[in-house]
Formats: sequence, C-alpha cells, structure tokens
Amino acid sequence: MTNWPEGKLLRFTILVHDLVRALLELRNTCHEMAQPVLIVGAGLAGLSLARTLSSYRVPVRIFEASPEIRKYSYGITLLSWAYQPLVSTLKLGSVEELKAATATDAQVGGYGLISAQVKDAYTGATLLSDPPRDPKAPQSYRCSRSKLGQLLAQGLDIEFGCKLDRVEQKASGVQLHFEGGKTAEGSLIVAADGIHSVGKLRSV
Ligand SMILES: Cc1cc2nc3c(=O)[nH]c(=O)nc-3n(C[C@H](O)[C@H](O)[C@H](O)COP(=O)(O)OP(=O)(O)OC[C@H]3O[C@@H](n4cnc5c(N)ncnc54)[C@H](O)[C@@H]3O)c2cc1C
Repeated sequence: MTNWPEGKLLRFTILVHDLVRALLELRNTCHEMAQPVLIVGAGLAGLSLARTLSSYRVPVRIFEASPEIRKYSYGITLLSWAYQPLVSTLKLGSVEELKAATATDAQVGGYGLISAQVKDAYTGATLLSDPPRDPKAPQSYRCSRSKLGQLLAQGLDIEFGCKLDRVEQKASGVQLHFEGGKTAEGSLIVAADGIHSVGKLRSV
C-alpha cells in the first residue's frame, strides 16, 4: 500500500472542494451566462467538478489531451468527507453503491476497508489488528483511481484529444487554444490539467 503523506493525501480533495465552493458562488451568475465554464483535464479533479457543476445545470465543456480516460493501475485512499458528497452528485443510492463500483477489492465483494494488521514475519501469526469495524460507518476506503475516473466520466461529453496550448483573456471571458488549432470560448477556465499544468502556467 502506498504510504501517502497526509498533506498530499488531502491535496486532491481540498482542491476539488475549494474549486466547487468558489464556482458554486458563481452559480447564479453562471445560470445567466451564455458561455460555459471550460475545464481542462479529465482527471479526478476535472471530472468531479464537471459532474458537480452539471448537476447544478451550470454549462460546462471539458477537454482532455488523451484520446480516452486515462487508466491507472493503483488505488488511492479517499477520506469520508471527500467522497460522501459524490453520492448525491452522481445520483447514487448510497455510499455502499459508490464503494461497490470503485473499491480496489470490489470484484470480490469488498468495500476497500483499510485495516492495520501486524503479522509475525516468520510464523504469520497476527500480533496486532484493528477491532472489527462496520463497513457502513464513515471512514476512508481504498478506491481504484481508474474505476473512479470511469464512474465520474459517465454522462459527460468529454472532448478528447484536446491538448491545451495557451489561454487568451477576452473581454467576455477566455479563449483556449489547443494544439492542432482547435479553439474554445468560455466564461472562465478551470485548469485541472494536473501537476505540470499548462493552464496554470500559461494563464498567470
Ligand atoms: C502512486 C500515487 C498514489 C496516490 N495516492 C493517493 C491517495 O492515497 N489519496 C489521494 O487523495 N491522492 C492520492 N494520489 C494523488 C491523486 O491521485 C492525485 O492528487 C489526483 O488524481 C490528481 O487529480 P487531478 O485531476 O488534479 O490530476 P490528474 O489525474 O493528473 O489529471 C490531469 C488530467 O489532465 C490531462 N492534461 C494534462 N495536460 C493537459 C493539457 N495541456 N491539455 C488537456 N489536458 C491535459 C491529463 O491527461 C490528465 O487526464 C496518489 C498519486 C499517486 C501517483
């Protein structure tokens, strides 16, 4: 299991929460906007934001450099306060439904439960273990990054093969320029294009 430092663990969830809070403050304004919010990057942040804004009927366009949703072969730990809002946003019936669709061990009926067990390296005997926990109680779980991405992408009209090159400020908003010549105009850009963000580097 990845030993993910707490600061980094929170980075993704805090990013999404801050973006959603800021953009929801603009919700009433956005309702009246003819132009959509332009989201660059269909990773977990971009997809979560696109689904959230869409659920509030804020017009969005989402652009992704890859030809399809990127696949990753590892799991991440999601904190309860970060994933619980997804249940209503994704119109799921319950947290268990989310976990059944995305937990790393979902294919064997698991819910991504994280338990600490210390075993004797020589005998295999359990030396220390967590007390049994209710799988329905709010707690962090191990989630497949790819499965969550696929779930978040459902119903979104993602414009694949669109690699952002530069951002141009306009009187009415922004114009995005993609490699290959495609352009798009919108009210504002959300650069969710990851750690080497072109959107952030070329618009500040
Ligand atoms: C091994 C590992 C373990 C991790 N464990 C945890 C964990 O336990 N808990 C946790 O919360 N987080 C964890 N993380 C971090 C978490 O995975 C990331 O913070 C999160 O996925 C970042 O999402 P994002 O949408 O910001 O960026 P990304 O997932 O990087 O998505 C960015 C998207 O933008 C696209 N893009 C890039 N450039 C452009 C461009 N110019 N134009 C258009 N599109 C572009 C990319 O193709 C990509 O699809 C882990 C990360 C790693 C690598």
